[in-house]
Amino acid sequence: MMRNGDFHVHTQYCPHGSKDTMEAYILRAIEKGLESLTFTEHAPLPDSFVDPVPNQDSAMSWTDVDAYLADGEKLKQKYKDDIHIKIGFEVDYIEGFEKETKNILNYFGSKIEDSILSVHMLRINDEYVCIDYSVDEFERILSLSNGIDSLYTLYYNTLKQSILADLGTYKPRRIGHMTLIEKFRKRFPTATDFSSLQKEILLLIQQEHLELDVNTAGFFKDWNENCYPPQQLIYKAKELGIPLVPGSDSHTAKHIARGFNRITI
Ligand SMILES: [Zn+2]
Ligand SMILES: [Zn+2]
Repeated sequence: MMRNGDFHVHTQYCPHGSKDTMEAYILRAIEKGLESLTFTEHAPLPDSFVDPVPNQDSAMSWTDVDAYLADGEKLKQKYKDDIHIKIGFEVDYIEGFEKETKNILNYFGSKIEDSILSVHMLRINDEYVCIDYSVDEFERILSLSNGIDSLYTLYYNTLKQSILADLGTYKPRRIGHMTLIEKFRKRFPTATDFSSLQKEILLLIQQEHLELDVNTAGFFKDWNENCYPPQQLIYKAKELGIPLVPGSDSHTAKHIARGFNRITI
């Protein structure tokens, strides 16, 4: 049975999201009859990492962290009789920045209750790129790599590293949108079948006792129109006993729990 909550939600502290307040997301979740809500704002990136997207707006800024945590704590109390709220982060796994990421997690780890580890950034040659920024940027990234199939392979290998990485005591327990690389799959189809590599990844998630973010945002991306991961992999993960955690990846309050009726957990 699917858990009655939305466990991947952004806030007004996300520089590429809407201005909807945390409270607006909570009210929407209550209206939708959810019992739980986890805020997973994009954790600040390591200081020494240069955000590769044009506006450098992939993650929240350090100056907002205290306000985010304080707001979350206040709202958690205010609505404690209506909904169970957790405050967490969506943390980027960036190959080569493991030590820095561990330091970030150690800094705020004791203050958060639930978090997600995601791969949005890939290292190609000596350049870092963000794979889910836009279709044009994806096309540019493709020109740096040796074809679409090798880009997918790089993504899945980076994902494997994220699952196995030593990020310390506060390493997030949930792997975010494991098939994010498919965001533009209809525009850039692959020739290779990645299902065995995907199953290998599920086995690693099982082995490491991690959870899987079942992320419905992909249904609403024109070039994807599929869940991250698709239903077949959700069934496979379920067979393996991996905890499946629904997340809308909302960047606006009205998207809370969007697409949850389209998946079977
Ligand atoms: Zn975001
Ligand atoms: Zn993400």
